[in-house]
Amino acid sequence: MILIDGKKTSSEIKNEIATRVAEIKSEGGKTPHLAAVLVGNDGASQTYVGAKVKACEEVGFKSTLVRLEETVSEAELLQVVEDINNNPDIDGLIVQLPLPKHISVDKVTNKIRPEKDVDGFTPANVGRMTLNWPAYVAATPYGIVELLKRYNIETSGKHCVVIGRSHIVGSPMSILMARNGYPGNATVTLTHSRTKNLSEITKTADILIVAIGKPEFVTGDMVKPGAVVIDVGIHRIEDSSKKSGFRLIGDVKFDEVAPLASAITPVPGGVGPMTIAALLYNTLQSAEKKVFG
Ligand code: NAP
Repeated sequence: MILIDGKKTSSEIKNEIATRVAEIKSEGGKTPHLAAVLVGNDGASQTYVGAKVKACEEVGFKSTLVRLEETVSEAELLQVVEDINNNPDIDGLIVQLPLPKHISVDKVTNKIRPEKDVDGFTPANVGRMTLNWPAYVAATPYGIVELLKRYNIETSGKHCVVIGRSHIVGSPMSILMARNGYPGNATVTLTHSRTKNLSEITKTADILIVAIGKPEFVTGDMVKPGAVVIDVGIHRIEDSSKKSGFRLIGDVKFDEVAPLASAITPVPGGVGPMTIAALLYNTLQSAEKKVFG
């Protein structure tokens, strides 16, 4: 069984990005610049944004964090997005989700200029990805694609089962695995909460991608021996034996599934660390005008 190491792979990608940034700077080019907008004081959101800003520093990017009060109006937030859209020094813009209830996520997402949409959430980028055009692919699916590539996982002609159809993970993952390219060319089954006989379907998967958001949902009896298993889930479970008081587990019951799998991502240290690397990569692509020209 191969343990697909997302921590190691993400640090390799960050090193590659840092090398490219150093080259750009030595050639007198502009430093890539990511702007993050954070609304309110949600603890998890602050942690995620903090990690993104820190990662920018690690690879030599410039970063700008715009913090807005929980009470900011939708119009004011839209204006902040517009100002960043029009700032020629900024290459990438992310608005950390979730947003307060009085603000429409769809309106804000749609306001982001597709050329700066390094989260890959705008309709333009989702459409481009679907058409197999150059696009900013959302960070988590992009991170999974990169893991499959770097571990030389064969996907052509394989049966890929995706559990979960969210806009940010399951749905784009199913499109990417079915497209004509590598990774891709798989025969894809996209499953969700209305799917009947789920375990009969998962047992036929050569590649099983699990983004369901339920701790240790996928058990050994749901997996075909030799399958490649990608676990997207992240859950904090109380654990008094840990200094932090908790440990992280995934959507897959790792101890049961790992001995059956030919390759598997652990939690933590699998898909999670790839997300930030993917965001940095998209920002570099934007700075180098590689996606929209
Ligand atoms: P989500 O938006 O809650 O979507 C969950 C999906 O699972 C939905 O499509 C839902 O179906 C489906 N589902 C629920 N119960 C099911 C069942 N019994 N059988 C089959 N399908 C079922 O979740 P998400 O945002 O995609 O995230 C999934 C997990 O990945 C979460 O644990 C999240 O924390 C984690 N995550 C990790 C990263 C990372 O960087 N590692 C990034 C994003 C998310 P319906 O559509 O029918 O409701």
